[in-house]
Amino acid sequence: MKKILMLGTGGTIACVASENGLVPALDGKTLVKMVPALDGLCHIEYKQILNLDSSNISPKHWQIIANALAENYTAYDAFVITHGTDTMAYSAAALSWMVQGCKKPIVFTGAQLPITAEGTDAKDNVYNAFKVATSEVQGICLVFGKFVINGLRAKKMCSESFDGFYSINCEPMATISEHTLNWNSYEGAGVGGEAFSVNTNLEEKVTVIKLTPGLSPDILDYYLDRGYKGVILESFGAGGVPNDENNWLPNLERLIQKGVRVVCATQCIYDGVNLSVYPIGTLAKKLGAESAGNLTIEATLVKLMIELAKQRNTCL
Ligand code: ASP
Repeated sequence: MKKILMLGTGGTIACVASENGLVPALDGKTLVKMVPALDGLCHIEYKQILNLDSSNISPKHWQIIANALAENYTAYDAFVITHGTDTMAYSAAALSWMVQGCKKPIVFTGAQLPITAEGTDAKDNVYNAFKVATSEVQGICLVFGKFVINGLRAKKMCSESFDGFYSINCEPMATISEHTLNWNSYEGAGVGGEAFSVNTNLEEKVTVIKLTPGLSPDILDYYLDRGYKGVILESFGAGGVPNDENNWLPNLERLIQKGVRVVCATQCIYDGVNLSVYPIGTLAKKLGAESAGNLTIEATLVKLMIELAKQRNTCL
C-alpha cells in the first residue's frame, strides 16, 4: 500500500461552529475517519501544520507548506493537503512554482461545507484526493468536485457550488464521475528539473492593481514610493493600459525606469493577454511592460514573487 502524508492547514472542510461562525478545528485523522471508503486504499499518516481560514494565508504559510513537503518528501509516496477554498488556488500556484522535480502526487483539496455538515462535499473530495494520490500522477494538482486540475491552472469560480474550481486555459487533468477518474494527463505542476527541490525565496513587495474605467494612474506612484518591486495590472480584455485623457503611460514608464517589473494581466478569466493588438497594449509593451500570457492572476502573482526574489539574490 502507498504511504501518504496528509498535511492539514484548516479551511471549511475542517470547520466547526463557533459564536462568530465557522472556524477550522478538526485534524486530518478526524477527517479521514469520516470517510470509511478510504480503509484499505492506502496507509495514511498526519501532520497538522496550520489551522487557518485560508483568507488568513500569506506567503509565510506557503513557505511552511513547502518546508513540510521538503522534510517529508523521501519518506512518503504522496501528499494530500487539506486547505480552505478561498485561497487554495493561490497556494496551489505558489507550491507549483516553489517545488521542482516532483515525481510524486501532491494533491490539494478542500470543501464548500464542513465534513460534519449534512450533504457535505468534503467526503467525496477527500476520497477523490486520496484516489489521485494513489495514482501515477506526478506533481502538484488540486482535486475539487468533478475536476482534477494542474496546480498552476486552478481558479475558485464559485463561492458555493460543489464544482467550485475550474481549470483555466488548460484541459483538466481528469474529470471525476461517481469516483471514477477519466484522465487526460497525469502531469501536474512542479515536475520540471531533475531532483526534487523547494525554493522558498519570495519577494513579497508585489501587488495586483485591478483597473476600473477612469482609475487614476497615481496609484502606481503610491506603490513606487513604498518600495514595491513588482506590479501586476489586472487590466481589461487583451491587456494594456489607458493611453488617452487618463494616460497611464508616463507613470508606467517611471516605474519601469526605477526597476519595478510591470506585468499586464487580464480581468477576463479565459484566453489571456495579447499586447500586440491595440495601442493600449503595444505602447505599454514598448515601455517594458510584460505580458502574463494565459496564466491566472494567482499563478502570475507567485511567479513574479519568485522571479523577483531570484533577481534580488543575484544582485547581492
Ligand atoms: N473561508 C473558508 C476558507 O477558505 C472557505 C472554505 O474553505 O471553503 O478557509
